[in-house]
Amino acid sequence: MKSVIFLAPPAAGKGTFSDFLEKKFGYQHISTGDLLREKALKDESVEKRLKSGALFSDDEVLELFKQKVNSYPKETLFVFDGIPRTLYQAEKMDEILDLDYIVIYLDVSKDILLERVLGRVICPKCHRSYHETFDEFKPKVEGICDDCGITLKKRVDDTREAFLKRYNEYLLKTKPVLDYYRKKNQLVEFSNTGVHQEKITHLMEVIK
Ligand SMILES: [Zn+2]
Repeated sequence: MKSVIFLAPPAAGKGTFSDFLEKKFGYQHISTGDLLREKALKDESVEKRLKSGALFSDDEVLELFKQKVNSYPKETLFVFDGIPRTLYQAEKMDEILDLDYIVIYLDVSKDILLERVLGRVICPKCHRSYHETFDEFKPKVEGICDDCGITLKKRVDDTREAFLKRYNEYLLKTKPVLDYYRKKNQLVEFSNTGVHQEKITHLMEVIK
């Protein structure tokens, strides 16, 4: 099996697939956000910058990323989340890391994503996400987490305006990254709509 880089617009279902790979096959999930938060625990200047919303340079992120990956045994399988975000990061990653990976682009139309985002409710405790109107993702009791029994909440940034802003920024930045992997023949484009089990079967074919 191969490590996986998911490239996906917000709400395209990256989290669901990542969870599946972690739980079922012991993949290590490495996200840029987690790396920065972890670093902030040990380094006050990083904590300050993180709190102020300052951006971290590509090289800083890559360095953290490299240290993290190299701290695992060679045969570890990874799911990468939030990296590479730019063409520079994509090119550099290949230089600094020796990995066998595949890039999966979760392609979902803007309208469907918007519908997902606007109906999304999250458990504040376990972070499981549900949907108010999609039958497959409704909680057993309306407004309550199946696992924790507490009230589900909407994310503050799950508004139409915030979504469209994130989505447009995403497309703009990711286009060159997609082209890069497409040229290298490493890109699998994956339509993430339809029946869950079929999508999982497809995913397994791709990463084996
Ligand atoms: Zn919960």
